[in-house]
Amino acid sequence: MLDAPLALSYAEIRMSTKELPSSSVGCFSIVMLLIVLLFIVGGVVSSQDGRNGAGSRFARVSNTPLSQQPTPIALITPTATRTAATPTLHPSATASHTPAPTDTATATVTATGTATATPSMTRASHHAPVTTKTGMVQADAELTRNTLTPTPTVLPLPTPFGVYSYTVKAPILMYHYISVPPEDADIYRKDLSVTPNNFRAQMAYLHENGFTTIDFYELSLAITGKILLPEKPVLLTLDDGYRDNYENAFPILLEFGHKATFFIVSEFIDNGYENYLTWEMVHEMAAAGMRFESHSRTHPDLRNQPRDYLIWQILGSQQTIAHHIGYTPRYFAYPAGRYDEETIQILQELHFWGAVTTAGGKWHSFENRYTWPRLRMRYTTQLAEFADFVAPGDARHGLPPER
Ligand SMILES: [Zn+2]
Repeated sequence: MLDAPLALSYAEIRMSTKELPSSSVGCFSIVMLLIVLLFIVGGVVSSQDGRNGAGSRFARVSNTPLSQQPTPIALITPTATRTAATPTLHPSATASHTPAPTDTATATVTATGTATATPSMTRASHHAPVTTKTGMVQADAELTRNTLTPTPTVLPLPTPFGVYSYTVKAPILMYHYISVPPEDADIYRKDLSVTPNNFRAQMAYLHENGFTTIDFYELSLAITGKILLPEKPVLLTLDDGYRDNYENAFPILLEFGHKATFFIVSEFIDNGYENYLTWEMVHEMAAAGMRFESHSRTHPDLRNQPRDYLIWQILGSQQTIAHHIGYTPRYFAYPAGRYDEETIQILQELHFWGAVTTAGGKWHSFENRYTWPRLRMRYTTQLAEFADFVAPGDARHGLPPER
């Protein structure tokens, strides 16, 4: 279909060159040929654009998270990451099928990515906390699907589609001991304890008021626009891996169908300390859908430490936990909330997807993924205060902090 205009144009060129002096004919016809070729190439490109709808698809890639905004999206406020505006990127087949892990904040425009927004709807169900082993396998399968890696050796960090990521308001609650503190407990020990009665009341409150406990993998997928969060998401985290987490918290979590993330100190378990979990307990809880992530090997202050030491602390615990739970943990809790730039650098190099601090706050984004804040649950936290902590409240109307 392109031959006819080409032949015509060429004939026209030949006709016009007859009237010119022979010395300039060569030059002129080459120039004209180039111009005609440019037109033809332009015609091919635009006709293919029209056929594939590539132009509109490009718009859809950027706008999907905005336009597909059912109820849960109210929790999500889009923010431009501005890391890669890439206006020249065409969503051609070559755009990005790079299974290589991306540790940078670089946004990757993937034409194939749009399709993965759909399965999220299944995760938005209020009463579908994933606490069974099957559920966890499904979550992992979905994770693999969403990250677009058929056979990953290292699961790549989920990155935002296009120029958008999301700042999500999802409270991450921070617990330590779930037990009645001993008589002689000092003020700190007591403050780190939530009694089983209070913990049970809090878990019941979440259950009765339509909250869904999610894990960090879901949080990462939500802020990169790959899934939608349920309407009232909440993350439960328990630090240090105390024995009472198994004895007191675990049965209550199961009773209400909640999922929690346990940040464990691998060497405390390796050494068989009696106040801490055993690996058998970890196996049982992991099989029931609980998540286990790294809280270092020995719970040191990670500031101003040599690089090798940081790697030993972080990679060591990551590998140990992976050995026991069957997948590589991707999240880290800084011991006592202490970290510096070097700590974050190592986490990035070791393919961690995020880390939590002990600073208070509810907003979580791709940009601050190594310093996600949490809300401290205390001995004195009453149910009314707890309800206030987890309330979606202004999440429906609020703006993300960076605006
Ligand atoms: Zn700790």
